Amino acid sequence: MAKKDVFTIVDTFKDLCRDACRTIWNHPEISGEENFSSKYYAEILRKESFRLVVNEHVPHAFLAEWGSGHPVLAILGEYDALPGLSQKAGSDREEITAGGAGHGCGHNLLGAAAVTGAIALKKVMEEDGLEGTIRFYGCPEEETLCGKVKMIHYNMFDGCDFAFSWHPMSVNMTFDTSYLANASFKFYYTGLSAHAGFAPQNGRSALDAMELTNMGVQYLREHVIDGTRIHYTTDSCGYAPNIVHPEAKSWYYVRAPHMSDVKSTVDRVKKCAQGAAIMTETQVKFELLSGCTEMLVNNAFSDLTYKNLLELEPITYTAEEREFARKIQDSVAMDTCARDRKAYNSDGPMYEGIAPREQWASTPMKASTDTGDVSQIMPMNLFTAAAWPIGVAPHTWQATACAGSSLGEKAALWAAKAIAATAYDILTLPEEREKILAEFEARKDDNYVPMI
Ligand SMILES: [Zn+2]
Repeated sequence: MAKKDVFTIVDTFKDLCRDACRTIWNHPEISGEENFSSKYYAEILRKESFRLVVNEHVPHAFLAEWGSGHPVLAILGEYDALPGLSQKAGSDREEITAGGAGHGCGHNLLGAAAVTGAIALKKVMEEDGLEGTIRFYGCPEEETLCGKVKMIHYNMFDGCDFAFSWHPMSVNMTFDTSYLANASFKFYYTGLSAHAGFAPQNGRSALDAMELTNMGVQYLREHVIDGTRIHYTTDSCGYAPNIVHPEAKSWYYVRAPHMSDVKSTVDRVKKCAQGAAIMTETQVKFELLSGCTEMLVNNAFSDLTYKNLLELEPITYTAEEREFARKIQDSVAMDTCARDRKAYNSDGPMYEGIAPREQWASTPMKASTDTGDVSQIMPMNLFTAAAWPIGVAPHTWQATACAGSSLGEKAALWAAKAIAATAYDILTLPEEREKILAEFEARKDDNYVPMI
């Protein structure tokens, strides 16, 4: 069938896509708690005759499969929200639930587009009598960067040939660059409790050890490679200032362009903690939570995805939507918006073109995702669709507001079309499959193991 017929079939699932965007947005669940969201998607797919497979080791993860034989196409869907980003779908900061979670990364759109793309692709395959298998992957715990790492570790992706991924963002584009590898780990300090006024000499402060570690890390920052990011949060375990803290905890992320850089920097952060423990006569324990690798770029897969993005009808916006987008932009630092508008050569509040490939050809994106691990075991594409205005970053209340509005819903349907169309090419163009697989074979790291 012609590509426009694929798009028309996706359009017949417009209501399903919109309902999923809204339902998941209205039930924000943080990483590790995606009970409602995973069941909601599993039920939609079960009704569409997909076979469900769960894995007892990874709660809230599942795969739903339809069809038979190769190629086996893995369409990745996420659904977790972020703590503290509860927000109404309006242009002023207003929480729905005080301190509650919200879809500030637009994963309500991400999952909705993936499920719509998978179901529409099934219809396309039925009409054309195409051989192959569709697998929708319900992927939890992306925001804590570990869900897909666990799914790989427990063999949930075995037998797949190609993976399809997208993310809501402020621009429509394909990625010819990677993002940062990451490791997440905790330090647990133990000391000796004492009355902080009466007998401080008897105490050995776990809190001091934690603070000295963090101070050591501030000095370390000058001596790591460019592109490294080190962030942490702390926990004084509920002790009051008049108690010498017998316990303290901190939680660190280290990011860098390659997993090898992450590992060496983690070792040096550990040395800061060991030094701090010596200075304070306390003990420190280290716990690695998870890590995710950089993305293995596949230019041939990007070429094919980009071609499909160009074939898609651009998203159109109403005057009301543009006004909403402009108000959202007004709440963001104007120099950021001005810089981004200039970078993307765009006058309006929403990005309406397809960003040129060279825009993102070299510098890694300064975030991380567990999708990188999927790209290590099979060829994977990645594209983004404009779900919020230029200048708005994910993980903000502004992104939550847009993900709950028609701006986000339009991006999701557009993304579903891009997924279905690119998957259709993979099913029908053997020469494209071979090119993508050859590039994957040439680039892949045979020593890859998920960090868990
Ligand atoms: Zn995200």
